[in-house]
Amino acid sequence: MSSSRRGLFRSAAQAAARAAIPDAVPGEPTASPDTLSPDELERYSRQLVLEQWGEAEQLRLRDASVLIVGAGALGSPVAAYLAGAGVGRIGIVDGDDVELSNLHRQHLHHTSEIGVSKAHGAAAKLQLLNPEVMVEPYQVRLDAGNAEGLVLGHDLIVDCSDTFATRYAVNAACCQTGAWLVEGGVVGVTGMVMSIRPGSSACYRCAFEAEPADAPTCAEAGVLGPAAGVVGSLQALEAMKLLAGVPGALLDAFLQVELLTGSFLRVATRRRDDCPDCGD
Ligand SMILES: [Zn+2]
Repeated sequence: MSSSRRGLFRSAAQAAARAAIPDAVPGEPTASPDTLSPDELERYSRQLVLEQWGEAEQLRLRDASVLIVGAGALGSPVAAYLAGAGVGRIGIVDGDDVELSNLHRQHLHHTSEIGVSKAHGAAAKLQLLNPEVMVEPYQVRLDAGNAEGLVLGHDLIVDCSDTFATRYAVNAACCQTGAWLVEGGVVGVTGMVMSIRPGSSACYRCAFEAEPADAPTCAEAGVLGPAAGVVGSLQALEAMKLLAGVPGALLDAFLQVELLTGSFLRVATRRRDDCPDCGD
């Protein structure tokens, strides 16, 4: 990210944090550009104490801008963990309203919010969880026509959508703009996760050239909440590793998870020269 973008996002995040904290002194910054404030050191202390995580990694997270596509079963854990971990700016795209049948697996939403916009409901709760971060709701369904516009301005996209059409639209937009991408999907008790750096690692279409025939939807095949929780948590972890520069991300590989038997399989993949999204 350029230093000017970092500065812009940091200023906006600081302004949002000041507005959300009642006893903050107007005009007094809550964080300096190069260090963590005492409150941030305490809030993030359990990750800062990790051998793989320190102030540099935390500052990279604070400087980052992430777009989460879908505020449902995968988006709920992704958004909660990334806001809690201190990603500085988080956008949430979802055009749907909360339905009763969502609530067994979409824990960012409550029964009292049936009929309320998922994007706005999720954003409100994330802001309560962590007022230090800036959260922007986008009440719209992402499609091939608006994907690039939504992706632009974000460092990393976490795709928590529930259709192959949306997944391919997000992948194409990331290949066009260069935004990093964490893909994920779950149905029943099986799922997958894949990280992508367009131009340097295999993209989603490199690994999955076309939508599988007769792929069931969650409405048809069902899904267990904890299975979506596992896949969404893995997506959040991948996003944090990529943003902070911690090695081990699922690049040129995807992880298949089968949660009835508890099996995790890392499958290698690679870029294809003839890929219509990222090929040469
Ligand atoms: Zn590709």
